[in-house]
Amino acid sequence: MVLKVPGIIGGDEVWGNALFVDLDPSTGQPLAEVARLGERDVDAAVSAAREASEKYRKTSASSRADLLHQLAALIRRDADRLADLETRDVGKPLRQAKADVAVCARYFDYYASILLALHGDTLPPMDGMLAFTRREPFGVTGHITPWNYPLQMAARTVAPSLAAGNCAVLKPAEDAPLSTVEIARLALEAGFLPGVLNVVPGFGHEAGAALTAHPGVDHLSFTGSRQVGTTVATAAAQNVVPVVLELGGKSPNLVFKDADLELAIPLIVGAITQNSGQTCSAGSRLLVHESLRSEVVQEVKARFQRMSLGPGLDDADLGPLISRKQRQRVSDLVETGRSEAELVCGGKPPVKSNLQGGFFYEPTLFDGVSATATIAQQEIFGPVLGVTTFRDDDEALTIANSTDFGLVAAIWTSDIRRAHRLAEEVRAGQVFINTYGAGGGVEMPFGGWKRSGYGREKGFEGLLAYTQTKTVAVGL
Ligand code: NAD
Repeated sequence: MVLKVPGIIGGDEVWGNALFVDLDPSTGQPLAEVARLGERDVDAAVSAAREASEKYRKTSASSRADLLHQLAALIRRDADRLADLETRDVGKPLRQAKADVAVCARYFDYYASILLALHGDTLPPMDGMLAFTRREPFGVTGHITPWNYPLQMAARTVAPSLAAGNCAVLKPAEDAPLSTVEIARLALEAGFLPGVLNVVPGFGHEAGAALTAHPGVDHLSFTGSRQVGTTVATAAAQNVVPVVLELGGKSPNLVFKDADLELAIPLIVGAITQNSGQTCSAGSRLLVHESLRSEVVQEVKARFQRMSLGPGLDDADLGPLISRKQRQRVSDLVETGRSEAELVCGGKPPVKSNLQGGFFYEPTLFDGVSATATIAQQEIFGPVLGVTTFRDDDEALTIANSTDFGLVAAIWTSDIRRAHRLAEEVRAGQVFINTYGAGGGVEMPFGGWKRSGYGREKGFEGLLAYTQTKTVAVGL
């Protein structure tokens, strides 16, 4: 059955003038028809958020915390339903979608808790004056999210915004908007005022562009590609509003001679195959000490070849890519890779007949990738890993820092001094030592260096990003 999905504005379902088709990437068949909202709807959503904000920004911290905790509880109550929807919309294995639901709820609980610790300062005594600061919400915040982790992305950006007392308008990605609409419905059930959280599904160049350019939006958060991020930042600059940009990555795993390979290899494989490599923090470059090259390549190849592919609901190791277009992009970059490096395994869609309708792609390994190769420099956003060797620490660091991106890096070594020295020198917003990923990492500030973006989400910094300081001085 094809679902029919509206937007949510001011607590009401809104259908706009047209619908667009959202495909199930596991089958290539229509999954939903979704309201294709545009400029007028975005305008209505911003007005609804502004109206709600007059009341909502004055609510006490504890009542906002209660609402956020209640929303987290409802997300957990509906965990199976939400995970099922996310799996069908994104194609990801069901266990991953269940983990995403759990992280989504954690964001609301986490920001409910830490908002109680949000306060200003009393400034040092001055002659005849008492001065203090207040942490105030911006008002209306606009959020644009990608399709790879819709539940996590929505919660990561909206929970701190609502915690700080803002009202939000969120434009989910057109390839996977379904679960975000459900979060807006659950927010109403939790008791949030209509208009506190509005969701405007639609296309980037329509609803997305209208939201980023809207003069009634006071703060923007964008998660997605560098190309669109630049457009969003330009629109934000025109309106002089702050913007958080969470963009792409080309994150390296650095494997030194003294690394514990039994620990490292499963996590390195997971870092590029989770969500079929469609993860901003995917570990897509494998930098290996030259003495370990053949052992590491053989072990990763064996693991890749053992991995199962299947529809999200079958909970195989890998689901499909999000769309035909995304698979074509991956496939084109792999073709480029064939002329730059040695293809070890994968490099094509699977041949199994029951997977032909979906957008599947085999886990793919390249060896002998030079640091300057296209496949070492460009984000592929698929299950494609390239191996590059290094001779010593300095060369490893030079290669690690040799892309435009700087989102995540991981260092695998038993030498604590090397680990700390490299963690200091590597140019990335998040560094892992002898591990990779943080299971959502709700508490850990996350964001890019270099062209991976600016500003931070997650953690306490993520909450501060949604507040502005007001200094108040009282004459005595
Ligand atoms: P995308 O940039 O194509 O789309 C992201 C969102 O922007 C979508 O909602 C889209 O509709 C919207 N959009 C498109 N054109 C727009 C416009 N002109 N104005 C306003 N909005 C517009 O990215 P994608 O393909 O959905 O996601 C993949 C990218 O996202 C990758 O580069 C990935 O690394 C990045 N990403 C980054 C993070 C992070 O936290 N740093 C997390 C997830 C994904």
